[in-house]
Amino acid sequence: MIDALPRKTSAQRLRAGHILADLKARYPDAHCELNWSAPHELLIATILSAQCTDVSVNRATPALFAAFPTPHAFARATALEIEPYVRSIGLFRNKAKAIHASCCLLVEQFGGEVPRTMDELLLLRGVARKTANVVLSNCFDSHVGVVVDTHVDRLAHRFALTNATTPMAIERDLMALFPQPEWGLLSHLLIFHGRRACKARGGDCAHDAICQKYCSQARSKAKTPTAPKALSAAKKSRAPIVKKVARKSAPRR
Ligand code: SF4
Repeated sequence: MIDALPRKTSAQRLRAGHILADLKARYPDAHCELNWSAPHELLIATILSAQCTDVSVNRATPALFAAFPTPHAFARATALEIEPYVRSIGLFRNKAKAIHASCCLLVEQFGGEVPRTMDELLLLRGVARKTANVVLSNCFDSHVGVVVDTHVDRLAHRFALTNATTPMAIERDLMALFPQPEWGLLSHLLIFHGRRACKARGGDCAHDAICQKYCSQARSKAKTPTAPKALSAAKKSRAPIVKKVARKSAPRR
């Protein structure tokens, strides 16, 4: 449940709209870069993506989804049987347990279907708000929040869209600034820019047109040749988001 969103001025919303328009123009094909063909596959891929790149998840999931083609198949297996397919991914034992427990709950409580509400998704082991937002937005075109991963966190601060220090507060700032139908695309756009231009250790700060317009670091870096140090100092001044595999037990009913 989300309280009332923070107030934003019309000037702040206007600026956010310009950022959105420029990102759309730069990345017209921005999309979720995890490979999936059914909602439960995106759910599982997103669980696997915690503290791990989408590329490494996409390398593992074809064999995983071939071996266990449905939530029922995952539920019939054990976490130990799932482990070999995700061994190349960090925290694979916890993630195998989360996938198994989540699929058991999908089968027991939701008829083998991925639920379509935030509250129901949050019942699943390994699923926190970020994963639920990914699934709702990409599978069901339901935008109840903004995905805040490490790239969105970084870009939202560098573009002065938030000063918040927690994922929930960052998400609320973004929700207040951007129109709801754009929330899903917004996260894709920020993630695309974060992967291609504004990487964690710095990017094409002095030369990127979007950065020059919206990122204060771009202007300061254009004047100082010690940009990477400035970036890392700025990064250290703020606690990073640590992506976690939530350890929730499936509730018994
Ligand atoms: S100017 Fe640099 S820090 Fe700012 S968004 Fe662009 S690449 Fe990232």
